[in-house]
Amino acid sequence: MTRLLLATRNAKKLGELRRILAAEGIEGVEVLGLADVDEFEEAPETAPDFEGNALAKARDAAVATGLPSIADDSGITVDALNGMPGVLSARWAGRHGDDKANLNLVLAQTSDTPDERMGAGFVCAAALVVPGGEETVVRGDWRGTLIREPRGANGFGYDPIFVPEGESRSSAEMEPSEKDAVSHRGRALRALLPQLRALATR
Ligand code: IMP
Repeated sequence: MTRLLLATRNAKKLGELRRILAAEGIEGVEVLGLADVDEFEEAPETAPDFEGNALAKARDAAVATGLPSIADDSGITVDALNGMPGVLSARWAGRHGDDKANLNLVLAQTSDTPDERMGAGFVCAAALVVPGGEETVVRGDWRGTLIREPRGANGFGYDPIFVPEGESRSSAEMEPSEKDAVSHRGRALRALLPQLRALATR
């Protein structure tokens, strides 16, 4: 059994990676989270792009644990805000992880933007670092439109104001499994499948 670290404490992200591996019939990989390994110092996310942050986090995790390690970095880019909040999505209103304040600030900033310029996209970069081996960085994009009133109770972050392309519901109104199948994070994690398949058989 190959042990693989997903450098997160988020049980939803761990569950999603486990489901993706199971759906692909990849056995022989045990997915661990940060709670399952000895604690190590986690550097702040300071890169200017999602890929840089994901790679830095995966490298730190691989060095600290000696395990093949995946890390991700995600956020929302709003066209009318020139791609912001971007890598600052989790702390856009000033405090890390205040989802409601972050969402309300984006709504306030786009209140005068005409409907036809409300395009936005979720982005997720995922990096896999194998100690003494390869580094792989991939990216998943999920395009859509912002709405002006939050809708739906599933998901987190900016989900209540994001309507994906081809949908009439917000991503907070979708079932978690529906969202996994098409989301930026699902796409990025699935883009690592060739490398994960190779790990499972080594
Ligand atoms: P992190 O990659 O876990 O640090 O997440 C970055 C931030 O991006 C989160 O705090 C959310 O605000 C936003 N975000 C990333 N993915 C999603 C998503 O699937 N739905 C809603 N917000 C998201």
